[in-house]
Amino acid sequence: MTAPNAMLEALTDLIGASNVISESKDIAPYAEEWRRLYSKQPSLVLTPTSVEAVQKVMAWANENSVSVIPQGGNTGLVGGQVPLDGGEVILSVKKLKAVRDVDPASNVMIVEAGATVLEAQEIAQKQNRLFPLSLGSEGTCQIGGILSTNAGGTAVLAYGNSRDLCLGVEAVLADGRLYNGLSKLRKDNTGYDLKDLLVGAEGTLGIITAASLKLFPRPTTFETALLNIKDPQAGVEVLEMVRRKSGNKVTSFELLPTLGIDLQLKHGLAARDPRASDSPWHVLIEFSLFDGEEPGALLVMLEALFEAELISDASVCSSLADRKMMWLMREHFAECQTREAEGIKHDISVPVKDIPELVKRCDLVAEKVIPGIRSFAFGHMGDGNIHYDFLAPLNMPKGNLRAHAAALHEAMYEIVDDLGGSISAEHGIGQMKAALLQQKKDPVALEMMYAIKQALDPKGILNPGKVLVRRN
Ligand SMILES: Cc1cc2nc3c(=O)[nH]c(=O)nc-3n(C[C@H](O)[C@H](O)[C@H](O)COP(=O)(O)OP(=O)(O)OC[C@H]3O[C@@H](n4cnc5c(N)ncnc54)[C@H](O)[C@@H]3O)c2cc1C
Repeated sequence: MTAPNAMLEALTDLIGASNVISESKDIAPYAEEWRRLYSKQPSLVLTPTSVEAVQKVMAWANENSVSVIPQGGNTGLVGGQVPLDGGEVILSVKKLKAVRDVDPASNVMIVEAGATVLEAQEIAQKQNRLFPLSLGSEGTCQIGGILSTNAGGTAVLAYGNSRDLCLGVEAVLADGRLYNGLSKLRKDNTGYDLKDLLVGAEGTLGIITAASLKLFPRPTTFETALLNIKDPQAGVEVLEMVRRKSGNKVTSFELLPTLGIDLQLKHGLAARDPRASDSPWHVLIEFSLFDGEEPGALLVMLEALFEAELISDASVCSSLADRKMMWLMREHFAECQTREAEGIKHDISVPVKDIPELVKRCDLVAEKVIPGIRSFAFGHMGDGNIHYDFLAPLNMPKGNLRAHAAALHEAMYEIVDDLGGSISAEHGIGQMKAALLQQKKDPVALEMMYAIKQALDPKGILNPGKVLVRRN
């Protein structure tokens, strides 16, 4: 093992003192993650300013068998970007922010990995184009991070997840070699898709340094409404009818329990109640309209949904300010839980038609495991992705819920298995679900994953113990 002082000296020589952080108070923001579930300390944090500097670090780390954790905006929710063992080196790509190319005619832009999603959206907007990825962490999470986790968000229904938005990547491999796959091509059938190996690899196969991203036409108008539905089954039927009748106008379709809005009002997160009237469940729906399309498409659709008795009421946004308020309410679905009580969370997916069955069975089983537990299932219904959270019973003393988490997870994941679903829809595996993946993933798929890891990172220095539990 390389002694800490020797490591500090070698890395300072390689990339300069201003890009090496060694004081624990300065390291803290990189070591602590959003949910504060992990607390191991890295030995150093590196912030290289060029791709060449990342290559030098990796060549040195490989030579000296030093573990490196790639980090982006540190908004990951499964502990992939923070230490597992303690003593690893965190390599943050936050200083790689150059816009290398914007090509509106090809609808492509090439940006470096440290650009935030918000910055990428703004670059696209300057060219009257849309970079459609949209998620609550977009001001902080970075292009390298969203690609490494294959993040989803609220526009996957229309545009796909991060993988679908990426045409190619540039990445530094474990031994410091540079893979240049910054293709602008939408058609390129020349062998294995290496981009798709690196996307979703959570920093275990390479450090993404830049990406070639798809751009889309910019909508001229959004039509947004909060619908009242009686249950998730009605939500499935609304979605089916909306997609059948409006084609690809519908760009977001979020299932929301009314409890989430109650809690936002209770905890001062919402200025006013956005609901038209009382209802146990809601759908936040959005249509995107483009140049030349007549406004009013959503209102026509709502009439059809009323007639079919699939919705009982709707609150329609009449201004951009209204729309902003509605999406802020959607974003606060995480924060209102934190303010209310301790919770247990699951990021799962099932086929869309099975969401009602999922909700019925999971609520029943949760009540059996923890009587009085409060169900809080919400999320990207259009993609079959539910953030299936639970809040501690009203009278449960603080600190008692965690003891039941393992039993609840096990029961929930059994139901997910049974419905042909996934234990991680969009947040990834990280350290949180690595053991679970080992249990649940098809054994042949796992062996293929280990073989790929062994081929690209034979010393196992890139984010060891994340995604795959077995080390090289
Ligand atoms: C408020 C909030 C809302 C969120 N909403 C959503 C949502 O709607 N949908 C969704 O999918 N996710 C959501 N997330 C989680 C999501 O995973 C992250 O926001 C994002 O994808 C991670 O990007 P990051 O830059 O912060 O990466 P980090 O957290 O820094 O890293 C995440 C993983 O990627 C790896 N990594 C990071 N950068 C690189 C790189 N350049 N090269 C190789 N590996 C790298 C890390 O090692 C780690 O394994 C949310 C998180 C928060 C806090």
